[in-house]
Amino acid sequence: MTTLKPETFHEIGKNGEARVRALLTLVRKALTNLAFDPYTQVKDTRVMYHPITPRSKLAKLDPKNYPIRSNYLQVWNDCTLEYDQNQKGAEIYVPGRRMYLGPFMLDYDDVVDLEKVIVHEYLHAALEDATTRIGYQWSHNEINRIVTQNLKYADPPNPANPSEDCNQDL
Ligand SMILES: [Zn+2]
Repeated sequence: MTTLKPETFHEIGKNGEARVRALLTLVRKALTNLAFDPYTQVKDTRVMYHPITPRSKLAKLDPKNYPIRSNYLQVWNDCTLEYDQNQKGAEIYVPGRRMYLGPFMLDYDDVVDLEKVIVHEYLHAALEDATTRIGYQWSHNEINRIVTQNLKYADPPNPANPSEDCNQDL
């Protein structure tokens, strides 16, 4: 993210392994689309670290007009992204900045949807009020606003629509 942990992408059975491999390929594309300049040729597709480059999508995040922490670039670079068979949807453990994708994501075949999911989880850690549970509904309103207005993604802002997707207790 951020740092991708490809070694965590495993599923049960041959079919499961094939599907989780496909998800990993899609995740790599999503991270490249989010963090790297649009015309950057990524020669090594196995790249695991995705710091935000100046003309990338995430570099367009606007902390002046949205409640994004001033160190949002660092927050992204600190995040890790891994696969977890026991994860219901997608989730971020905010204090550790560990992001998890679960089997639900195996049904995704649209890289843009996956980008939105990753941005959503990341913004839980990058919003100004990310450390309190009080701001939970507020966070979702702001995240949806940032995804559509600031980053200009088409609706819906949150294709995964997870009801409880950030864990503040770790
Ligand atoms: Zn959320």
